[in-house]
Amino acid sequence: MKKAVITGERKAEVVEAADPRPKDDWALVKVQVTPMCTEYKGWLAGRKSEFLGHEAVGEVVEVAQPCRVEAGQRVVVQPQYPCGKCRLCLQGEYIHCEHSYNFAEFTGSPEGRATYAQYVLKPSWLLSKIPEDVSYEHAGLALCALGPTFGAMQTMGVVAFDTVLISGAGPVGLGGVVNARFRGARVIVAEGHPWRAERARLLGAEAVIDPADENALQQILGLTGGAGIDKAVDCSGAVAAHRLCIDAARRKGHVAFVGECSEETPFRASGDLIRKGLSLHGAWHYNLAAFADVMKVIQHSPVIGDLISHVLPMSEIQQAFEISASHDSAKILLKPWA
Ligand SMILES: [Zn+2]
Ligand SMILES: [Zn+2]
Repeated sequence: MKKAVITGERKAEVVEAADPRPKDDWALVKVQVTPMCTEYKGWLAGRKSEFLGHEAVGEVVEVAQPCRVEAGQRVVVQPQYPCGKCRLCLQGEYIHCEHSYNFAEFTGSPEGRATYAQYVLKPSWLLSKIPEDVSYEHAGLALCALGPTFGAMQTMGVVAFDTVLISGAGPVGLGGVVNARFRGARVIVAEGHPWRAERARLLGAEAVIDPADENALQQILGLTGGAGIDKAVDCSGAVAAHRLCIDAARRKGHVAFVGECSEETPFRASGDLIRKGLSLHGAWHYNLAAFADVMKVIQHSPVIGDLISHVLPMSEIQQAFEISASHDSAKILLKPWA
């Protein structure tokens, strides 16, 4: 099979690799669409990698034994290699599993875990069937484009009464705009990049505030009559944005953190939590049982197509990374067979 790899700073190419083979209740999936995520950061930094990506949709082509899927089925390939046996896995919260498979040890080869490739291997219970009326391209949005913010909004119970702040309008934050609008909420976005600000408006954001503006907080409060926003989702992973979400939230409001961040965010137990009554949440992905509802967003959101900005053949991986690194993009999809 072919797969895309990072070979150096701003250098990527397509190479040949061994075809993976299914084992036990794992299935082999022919990848039709690979949504790009944060892999461009490794391309920019020159972090060489032969195994790129964690998002894929495609067609089951081979199973090793009778299992939950069969050849010919169109599926979303859920992320990670969780154990499938622990309490979190059984609850559908597999994304937090602490007993993930050692992929190469279990399958006997490292090939088949990268999604920037023509085939992937996955335990059959993590292959979610795509409804007939949903294209592979749109089904690819059920991963990081819509997934993390869907989980966040389900946890916070976002409804039509709410004003929601989304900070950071990359592909994940833009998915947050789609999710919040689908739930009927009013949406304010904090984003400084012009392309992304424009796309956020197109997807239904009522206002886009530049978080670098020294009056950003006052502007957001002004849009809520001074009360503050009901619910916020940080998709930027920036400490200043974390504080903006916390400070812009109303009393008894909710803030969910989706953007990854390894730095410490300052917060005050009394001022932010006890007196203000905020609830803070972390959200990585959605519960597996919510897949059908994520699909409803894809099937019925009138703006879903605008969450995708580029579809490129994997042979143009170099150009795809250029676009991804420019940030002039929403979700970028690769076609591994083109
Ligand atoms: Zn588990
Ligand atoms: Zn992702």
